[in-house]
Amino acid sequence: MSGTIHVVGAGLAGLACALRLAESGRRVALYEAARMAGGRCRSYFDASLGLTIDNGNHLLLSGNWAARDYAERIGANGALVGPDDCAFDFLDATTGERWTLRPNAARIPWWIFVPERRIPGTGPLDYLDAGRLLFAREGATIGETMRCEGPLWEKLWRPVLLSALNIEPEEASARLAGAVLRETLAAGGAACRPLVAKDGLGDAFIEPALLTLRAKGVEPRFGARLREIAFEDSRVAALRFGDMEARLENGDAVVLAAPPWIAQELVPGLAAPDDFRAIVNAHFKIAPPPGQPLLLGMIGTLTEWLFAFDDRLSVTISGADRLIDDAREELAKKIWAEVSAATGLPAAPLPPWQIVKEKRATFAATPAQDKRRPDAKTSWRNLWLAGDWTKTGLPATIEGSIRSGYKAAELVGA
Ligand SMILES: Cc1cc2nc3c(=O)[nH]c(=O)nc-3n(C[C@H](O)[C@H](O)[C@H](O)COP(=O)(O)OP(=O)(O)OC[C@H]3O[C@@H](n4cnc5c(N)ncnc54)[C@H](O)[C@@H]3O)c2cc1C
Repeated sequence: MSGTIHVVGAGLAGLACALRLAESGRRVALYEAARMAGGRCRSYFDASLGLTIDNGNHLLLSGNWAARDYAERIGANGALVGPDDCAFDFLDATTGERWTLRPNAARIPWWIFVPERRIPGTGPLDYLDAGRLLFAREGATIGETMRCEGPLWEKLWRPVLLSALNIEPEEASARLAGAVLRETLAAGGAACRPLVAKDGLGDAFIEPALLTLRAKGVEPRFGARLREIAFEDSRVAALRFGDMEARLENGDAVVLAAPPWIAQELVPGLAAPDDFRAIVNAHFKIAPPPGQPLLLGMIGTLTEWLFAFDDRLSVTISGADRLIDDAREELAKKIWAEVSAATGLPAAPLPPWQIVKEKRATFAATPAQDKRRPDAKTSWRNLWLAGDWTKTGLPATIEGSIRSGYKAAELVGA
């Protein structure tokens, strides 16, 4: 196959797609509207902190096979770190109680019978209720499928599902939650080890991918915003980028790996998710105290997950639409008060901080929005779609975006 594959968008979906195509010897042209690659998964130098930070803390689990495969292909699997065994530290800030959730590695979940491995105040049978998610009916919400109250809900399922789906879990798609559960907890603790890009997302997912692509002859064009797709005879005839046009010959194809609102503007009649949820991250330039876990789940606070990097403490708040209009300094103060109480670091002075609000962090993982997700294949003969918002069967995650890129590459003929 000799044609050029035009990949539009250098987020993880576009990078993963370009990588697989280039590996199989296809000629790839990669376009990105921004001045840098990474999209919603990026690192950048924050001048006010004097640090390189991520737009948002990203958590992977060891069962995310595509993300690990991608990291391996770009030579970056060492950049993802986490405990050797599955262990999640939690703090209930309302009671001061701390615990560590420790599912056993194998598929048979004997850990639920061991009190020190499970959530305080819960019994083994409580855990079985979430199994309903694995068999959820099409269109059902989590609220319609499992019990959404009680200590296990408050201390495990709500925080875990909120971060996996980035939406208040009761209204989220039970099918999407089931897919996450099937590939993680239900697959055993070996599939649930937390993995974090300790030196940043750029270092783990983006820079090594660009180096690998360049070594294969793919030089991304930055600042190339696709403004129009010209269609002729059921196929894409040209891509228009403002001052540049790429005409497509026979054998050429396009993978559109841009966000859904852009894809809808460019592709006539495309149905795609159109409701989104925010994520707010707070970064504090301060060294974590000795013994601070890499990741701490916090209950009863605005702070949901506290990440400890060598040079900063960073907080993630999912489904954060209610905070989007809040004053940034007020947010920083509130969050720091919680973090200092959890870590024992001084409450004052407020360390140098940064608040990053990502308004359209993910599509809203409701049954109705999930239904709007299109297949990678379109009705145009030489146009495919990729992105976390396409029909991956997963919520909007790194894993979903990489799988979508792989799938598009396979369909194009990698
Ligand atoms: C704050 C935050 C925290 C998150 N936390 C997690 C987490 O813990 N774990 C997890 O697995 N996932 C997490 N995610 C989700 C994850 O980041 C996304 O699922 C993933 O990065 C999406 O990649 P993508 O390539 O599908 O889309 P995008 O990253 O949106 O990539 C699309 C690219 O297309 C480019 N583009 C747009 N328009 C055009 C155009 N007209 N022409 C050319 N290029 C264009 C954009 O600039 C962008 O680079 C988080 C997301 C955010 C925002």
